[in-house]
Amino acid sequence: MTRPGLEVPDTAVGVLGDEGHELFDLLSSMGHEQVVFSHDPSCDYRGIIAVHDTTLGPALGGTRFWPYESDRGAVIDVLRLSRGMTYKAAVAGLNLGGGKAVIIGDNKTRDREMLMRAHGRAVDSLGGRYITAEDVGVSVEDMDLVHMETEFVVGIQGRSGDPSPVTAYGVYRGIKACAHKRYGEDSLKERAVAVQGAGHVGYHLCRYLTEEGAKVYVADIDDAKTGRAAADLGVEVVPTEQIYLVDADIFAPCALGAILNDTTIPALEVDIVAGAANNQLDRPEHADMLRERRILYAPDYVINAGGLINVYSELVGWSLERANRKAGEIYNVLLAIFDLAETEGMTSSEAADRVAERRLERVGRLHRGPF
Ligand code: NAD
Repeated sequence: MTRPGLEVPDTAVGVLGDEGHELFDLLSSMGHEQVVFSHDPSCDYRGIIAVHDTTLGPALGGTRFWPYESDRGAVIDVLRLSRGMTYKAAVAGLNLGGGKAVIIGDNKTRDREMLMRAHGRAVDSLGGRYITAEDVGVSVEDMDLVHMETEFVVGIQGRSGDPSPVTAYGVYRGIKACAHKRYGEDSLKERAVAVQGAGHVGYHLCRYLTEEGAKVYVADIDDAKTGRAAADLGVEVVPTEQIYLVDADIFAPCALGAILNDTTIPALEVDIVAGAANNQLDRPEHADMLRERRILYAPDYVINAGGLINVYSELVGWSLERANRKAGEIYNVLLAIFDLAETEGMTSSEAADRVAERRLERVGRLHRGPF
């Protein structure tokens, strides 16, 4: 008999459905190890933590605070993003697994302490299987609140700091690898590069490029950003809608996601697309479209891994120099991916996934050795 007050409300039947195992089937098809739903009624905290794969190490990934319209939308987002983190860490050669967290709610709320502390407790309950960081909708200050409840957090104030310079260095090295593959030499002297976005990463990337003697065009919706880059680095500013049309060798997206799409790909006149932005391809098929146009594409999660390398360096106590050295390895990682894509007749995105899966499989086997 059900104890008073513990009856399952009728609505639960509608939410969960009374047939099938839709949620577990989804976890199984995407390869997730664990998904934790946490609720704290005192502050109406609603959080989901997804641990995708811990073969390589603890699952690391940011916390996204977002007003999801449905729980289903939040679940799908956290599953997708956590799996992406597994692949990113695997390709970058880090001993990290993939994880992600979402908090459902109004991310503009001023009343944040209890929410973030409740989230910290949820993170802590996993005992280090999941390590969190900043993502969309949360700030460094929020992470300090999370840190009041758990040690399993990176990117808090006074630690590894702004990841953008390391990300930019990794992107710069990645662009050189692309030049090596495409032109047979990696010098960027007098190469023309169109950079979309002169924000944290874009600015530092422009600095590396101009230092090497490249001709840099830059566009940003924020005139203050382009103004600073032009004044400090001598880059040429172009209108935002023109950045795809510039007569350049390389296009470096460092602003928005989904900018490689049905409209922009046919307009591009470049040989290479290589930049920091996350989720550059609008749809997976756009990787094929780039390949058909003979545009060499550096898969975003490979070339922008410097940010993850920076937080990893906080965990393992690396210096900035060591973090940059690791980010510089993106050069060789990309060359291996391009070679695999060529020999297997696949896109660079497919080859990157293959490299990640291969490392996961091989390290997994190592741990299961006979000893
Ligand atoms: P940022 O917000 O500092 O810079 C983005 C810039 O893009 C801003 O200056 C913004 O005004 C500009 N922008 C927005 N819409 C634009 C448009 N339509 N045309 C031209 N410019 C536009 O962000 P960031 O930290 O430099 O990151 C840039 C990209 O790289 C993002 O996609 C981010 O997810 C990704 N990324 C960043 C890091 C990192 O270490 N910061 C790591 C990995 C990936």
